[in-house]
Amino acid sequence: MPRTDTVLADPRLSGFQRDRARAVVREELDRVRRGELPAADVAESARRRLSGPGGLRPVLNATGVVLHTNLGRAALPAAAVQAIVAAAGHTDVELDLETGRRARRGRTALRALGEAVPAAQAVHVLNNGAAALLLAATGLAAGKEIVVSRGELVEIGDGFRLPDLLVSTGARLREVGTTNRTSLADYRDAIGPQTGFLLKVHPSNFYQRGFVAAVPVRELAALPAPLVVDIGSGLLDADPLLPDEPDAATVLCDGADLVTASGDKLLGGPQAGLLLGRADLVEALRRHPLARALRVDKLTLAALEATLLAGETPTRRALRAPAARLRRRAEAVHGALGGAVPAEVVDTVAVVGGGGAPDVELPSAALALPPDLAAPLRLGDPPVVGRVEQGRLLLDLRCVPEDDDQAVAAAILRAAGH
Ligand SMILES: *Cc1c(COP(=O)(O)O)cnc(C)c1O
Repeated sequence: MPRTDTVLADPRLSGFQRDRARAVVREELDRVRRGELPAADVAESARRRLSGPGGLRPVLNATGVVLHTNLGRAALPAAAVQAIVAAAGHTDVELDLETGRRARRGRTALRALGEAVPAAQAVHVLNNGAAALLLAATGLAAGKEIVVSRGELVEIGDGFRLPDLLVSTGARLREVGTTNRTSLADYRDAIGPQTGFLLKVHPSNFYQRGFVAAVPVRELAALPAPLVVDIGSGLLDADPLLPDEPDAATVLCDGADLVTASGDKLLGGPQAGLLLGRADLVEALRRHPLARALRVDKLTLAALEATLLAGETPTRRALRAPAARLRRRAEAVHGALGGAVPAEVVDTVAVVGGGGAPDVELPSAALALPPDLAAPLRLGDPPVVGRVEQGRLLLDLRCVPEDDDQAVAAAILRAAGH
């Protein structure tokens, strides 16, 4: 029996920590029973796990899904990580150090966002994309109607549906058109004294082909009602790599009154919700009582500002990595295994994920491994998460930082018992 009493005997452990230490030791012993961990390593492995923060362990994303919601969507740029650390203590988030007076919360982050999207008269930042939509619906349409196409009543994930969220604000949905086709006349005929706003939702996690029709923003904007566009992904400018993804600048230039978006999808920043558009609407929403409940944390503001100023993000890098380079990296990892594990380099297709660009395929490269390595790799240190496809475990390198290739090779060797 491996010795674990030294782990639990640590006098620095509080009662709560001791309970957690017991649980961790039990889990490590289970791994030994399953043959995933040598018995001699139990104490060391448990100690390593207990020395870090409890949950939220750093994971190597080898899934080939750039924005994986279960893995925390966007990985932040290094500058954003530093900004979070710098803002973690007391910070001037709501204080003007020059005058000593209260100042607009997160004003430098808001300025950076405003400068990134000059077409927006005003901007506001909240907890997430859903919060942005919630505030718009509450502030502009509670007790009124939101006119929306039947083709855009989207379920965003984990069972959450945008129509339910909209109705929860006290607004009524005025559904127009059909699942596959909605015309300008459908919207026009629905507008009346009860209209709060017209809503266009980007169906970001699916796409329709065939006998379909939707009304472009430019045409909707000409109708006599405010137009809110939920672009979802947080793309601020048009990106030729993602031709079907709407971006905030274009949508505003086409006449939308408000745009809502997420901060941690294609923008590549922290979880946040963005509201951009007409100054009077943004200001009214910013002062709405509900806005206080959706107020964003100082750490988020710090990370968002740094992401906007950094330009380059791990998300952008992962989206743009050339397939040939990924293939060379996969071959180098294969070489580092030295034939000790049955592995093969294969061409794969990676995806954007995070409910974005569902029709975009990113040619990529992966190591194909026996599927029984999936669990030990996931449970290793660092955990490496791949995907199992057609009976093989694929470790796709598109979202793995290049600096971590050797860590992937070492993790494979450890998982295979070498
Ligand atoms: C992702 C998404 C949302 C929700 O944004 P969160 O930041 O996840 O709250 C809303 N609408 C669309 C179209 C989305 O893609």
